[in-house]
Amino acid sequence: MLVREEILRLPGYAYTGYEAEVKLDQNEAAEDLPPTLKSALFDKLQTVPLHRYPDLDAKRLRRSIAAHFKWPENGVVVSGGSNTLIRCLTIAGAIGRSVVSVKPTFPIYSDQARVLGAQLFEVPLKPDFSLPLDELRVTLEQHAGVIFLANPAAPTGNKFSQGQLEELLQVTSKNWIFVIDEAYHQFAGTSALPLVAQYPHVVSLRTFSKAYGLGGLRIGFALAQPELATEIRKVVMPFSVSSLQVMAAETVLELDDFFKKRVATTISERERVSEALKGLNLRTYPSVTNFILFSVPNPAYVFETLLTKGVLIRRQDHIKGLEGALRVTIGSKDQNNRFLESLRIVLGEESYG
Ligand SMILES: *Cc1c(COP(=O)(O)O)cnc(C)c1O
Repeated sequence: MLVREEILRLPGYAYTGYEAEVKLDQNEAAEDLPPTLKSALFDKLQTVPLHRYPDLDAKRLRRSIAAHFKWPENGVVVSGGSNTLIRCLTIAGAIGRSVVSVKPTFPIYSDQARVLGAQLFEVPLKPDFSLPLDELRVTLEQHAGVIFLANPAAPTGNKFSQGQLEELLQVTSKNWIFVIDEAYHQFAGTSALPLVAQYPHVVSLRTFSKAYGLGGLRIGFALAQPELATEIRKVVMPFSVSSLQVMAAETVLELDDFFKKRVATTISERERVSEALKGLNLRTYPSVTNFILFSVPNPAYVFETLLTKGVLIRRQDHIKGLEGALRVTIGSKDQNNRFLESLRIVLGEESYG
């Protein structure tokens, strides 16, 4: 056999990239950086010496992130996308031990546990998507490793209660790295940093892909207490974040006002789209993110027909507990209107249901 059994069994990441005029399937920002900001960024990138290796551990970017979040530089880990940090955390804490998460959740946690041969426990969320505290507690008390919780949660869009999180933090303090994946925190106005400051085993995982709208840049980072962050940095491949990524990420960190405005627009659009979906008598799940989960009686038909109308959203109906569910990313006002108008037509069609 050429390849390990675990790899042969993996289906690979489930994503099909369709072409569509209105692309609302990956929780991206609706628009690229405005032309003036983008050309200022590219002017800066011109100055990057490409014959030199980048900083080890993205040191300058770590310094900028540290200043931005008023957090010690040694408590910052940078890598090429937060998904690669999920791998690093699994390597650091879970190989030969365990990964615990809930389900449904972000699929990378379980994929990486399987790739790296960690024992995997996926505990189903309660029907209202709250944390299954009792079941989690039993598993956490019996094992050691890494627990991943996306908060705000994906693909469900809710956030977990602070009290429940703190209960789990108590149980895990001795032998679990507790990862709070905050990919969507700006849309919820939440931050796990106070918990990171309080607990030496907590990691807050952040990304430039969602609120910053720079998924193409591939930058993610983790905030933890320096002692833990120093161990995690040993697992990130040296020089793996390019000088171009570092320069670009440093530049956009300074555009705080721009991103704050954009997040505020997304939040108000989210509320508008959510109300409109309820107005169509669809089951709509509360969201504190930049996407909305809703369900329809015939998700395959709705997905395909929207696509023929140039609107791409994401099917989630294959996921246990999410029967009938579709997920739409909040786009620009025009994109959201195109989605809602097309959906109204699809739902009104004879062949529906
Ligand atoms: C989008 C997303 C990420 C971001 O991954 P990157 O690799 O940084 O693009 C991480 N976690 C969750 C839950 C996400 O939805």
